[in-house]
Amino acid sequence: MRSQCDHVSCGTKEKVWVPYYYQGRERGLKPHPYCTECGLVKNLSSERPRRIGFYINIITSLKEEFKLAKAQIRLIALDIENSGVDDDYGMDRHQQEELFIKIVHKYVNVPEWALRKFF
Ligand SMILES: [Zn+2]
Repeated sequence: MRSQCDHVSCGTKEKVWVPYYYQGRERGLKPHPYCTECGLVKNLSSERPRRIGFYINIITSLKEEFKLAKAQIRLIALDIENSGVDDDYGMDRHQQEELFIKIVHKYVNVPEWALRKFF
């Protein structure tokens, strides 16, 4: 299990200059707040992350087409839940999508386009 953090942002003066991403592309540096508890840098992307349920639904809806076993779906769902994919302090939508694809490919051989068509 990942450790849960309630995330406490640092003050304005402590902000760190790190790359800002839009649609997965770097768009220069911007001051970002970070969490003083765990050090995670806050995501400032305009693309808000999705709920975990969105990703679980994708896997479930591919069950028939790619003949996924219940056990495989359960493993993927568990991995997604433990991955921190719903940590909207630090994750943007693009990072979520990449992480989701990586997790799915650990367990099943569903082609990337089949996953991306849901995004
Ligand atoms: Zn934190």
